[in-house]
Amino acid sequence: MNKTTSFSIWYVLLAIMAVVLVHDFILALNKVEELPYSQFKSLVVTGKVAEVSVTSHILTGKLKAEGESKEQKAFTTVRVDDPDLVRELNQHGVTFTGVIESTFLRDVLSWVIPVALFVGIWFFILKRFGQAQGGFMQVGQSKAKIYVEKDIKVTFADVAGVDEAKEELGEVIEFLKTPEKFTKLGGKIPKGILLVGPPGTGKTLLARAVAGEAGVTFFSISGSEFVEMFVGVGAARVRDLFDQAKLKAPCIIFIDELDALGKARGAGPMGHEEREQTLNQLLVEMDGFDPRIGVILMAATNRPEILDPALLRAGRFDRHVVVDRPDKIGRLAILRVHAKQVTLGPDADLENIAAMTPGFSGADLANIINEAALLAVRRGKDQVGFSELQEAVERVIAGLEKKNRVLNKMEKERVAYHETGHALVAMSLPGMDQVQKISIIPRGVAALGYTLQLPTEDRFLMTKSELENKVAVLLGGRIAEETIFGEASTGAQNDLLKATDIAKSMVKAYGMSEKLGTISLERERQSQFLQLPVASERGDYSEETAREIDCEVRRIIDEQYGRVKSLLEENKAALQQGATLLLEREVITGAELKVVMENLSAQRQPTE
Ligand code: ADP
Ligand code: MG
Ligand code: ZN
Repeated sequence: MNKTTSFSIWYVLLAIMAVVLVHDFILALNKVEELPYSQFKSLVVTGKVAEVSVTSHILTGKLKAEGESKEQKAFTTVRVDDPDLVRELNQHGVTFTGVIESTFLRDVLSWVIPVALFVGIWFFILKRFGQAQGGFMQVGQSKAKIYVEKDIKVTFADVAGVDEAKEELGEVIEFLKTPEKFTKLGGKIPKGILLVGPPGTGKTLLARAVAGEAGVTFFSISGSEFVEMFVGVGAARVRDLFDQAKLKAPCIIFIDELDALGKARGAGPMGHEEREQTLNQLLVEMDGFDPRIGVILMAATNRPEILDPALLRAGRFDRHVVVDRPDKIGRLAILRVHAKQVTLGPDADLENIAAMTPGFSGADLANIINEAALLAVRRGKDQVGFSELQEAVERVIAGLEKKNRVLNKMEKERVAYHETGHALVAMSLPGMDQVQKISIIPRGVAALGYTLQLPTEDRFLMTKSELENKVAVLLGGRIAEETIFGEASTGAQNDLLKATDIAKSMVKAYGMSEKLGTISLERERQSQFLQLPVASERGDYSEETAREIDCEVRRIIDEQYGRVKSLLEENKAALQQGATLLLEREVITGAELKVVMENLSAQRQPTE
């Protein structure tokens, strides 16, 4: 509790005490003598009473002034059932009045106290609320949710299986350690680094490890905590965060769950005014600081696609570091990191566990070790054995099954052939983006595996044959499945959708079909599809043309199908060897697959 709140409470208490004291004081001023009824009666009889007010319970009155003093003494007495009272008062010439018993004081108190309390509380609330409205800075400065950590003990040794990400962040650590060196050389330091990857892969851990390695202060705040009740508080907090950080340079500012606050403006149902203000403030702050002072901004998200594009522009979060789910070797390394916390038995074969857990994130693996340790304790063991580890895997899988897909062996095999098919076709056809990576580690719920093709240069135009090749690559996955297993599976729907869209665009938008001729039946389509083709609404053309379009789309797909089919039949051995390697390793590079292909063709050459 801060100073203002306790002060306010004392204030209210003080006011109440004052009221009570004043009340006593007033009573004390009208000093009233309390008499027994009998004495009162005798005073009446002796003619010493001047006046009396009669209520149902009490008689109050004044005595006649005696001697020198002109003061009439007040008295009070409890009324006794006395039928003669009125007659006697009359007899001795006492002025008397009947009074309806006054509850004035009681009424006042019973009203005043609650009202006073109410007013007091009201003021107290107003005071706090007024603060929130009048001084954002103050609220921001309350540091309520900005976490500041110095001397972080986490290092890169605690983060395993994400070597590429670590390598990329190495430069940042160098910079934070010796900013002068970079400044002198005039090197360009990234301002904002965005860690992108599925939940639990160690993004937050990695950010802290960077601070730990560099030995700098770590300011962190979570995007979801920016969503506040009062508009403007989030923005103030951002300003405050940067102000504080600039004073502590070199340091890292880390915004976790950036997507919660960095959603594209205008998207999302609720509280967007607040979010927009906060986001705008963040953009302003990012533009306004020079990383050369030694402040590096890092953020993490598992949904980069929903981020406001403004956040990703040059000079903002323009450096992206992918933190992916670990492969088998990575999983083993992560298991080893966490196994340091427990005592493993001689039979605890972590390699075996790593082989069992494709698709698991670092957090899942940490969880396995933890669960296994709990099991061992429950079983009264002093070491974690293989059986505990195995059971822990099962438990974690059961928990995961809802979140993520865990493939069975058959499915995994199929996915391996599917992805190898894509990759082989991409590598065999000219003008295709280079195959970087082929993976059968499930990615989220949507993709079971993926073939990562990265363009070697920016492309703004595509030729007809390049588009055809793209269709071919998309078909490669499904056709590989057919070639090996004899039948297709549901896994290729997304590929087919994309292939069909490309073929449709070729016919409808780019005039690449001889049958329809050089016409475009679509508007607003330009080269955006270089990213992702989107099927558009049925345009302004006849039924007959529509039928022709359908035929042409089918023809393009069929043509490519035939081409890919024979290509993969020819390279069946490469497909098999590649898929086997992929199954074993879960992730292989394009270069490795190329080696497989080249070895095979080298073997073939002499016999021919
Ligand atoms: P994210 O931020 O990507 O969702 P976290 O960094 O919060 O993931 O990871 C949660 C926990 O899981 C970490 O504290 C750590 O114990 C464990 N963990 C995740 N990834 C790794 C990793 N690559 N190496 C070691 N531990 C990891
Ligand atoms: Mg996190
Ligand atoms: Zn596919």
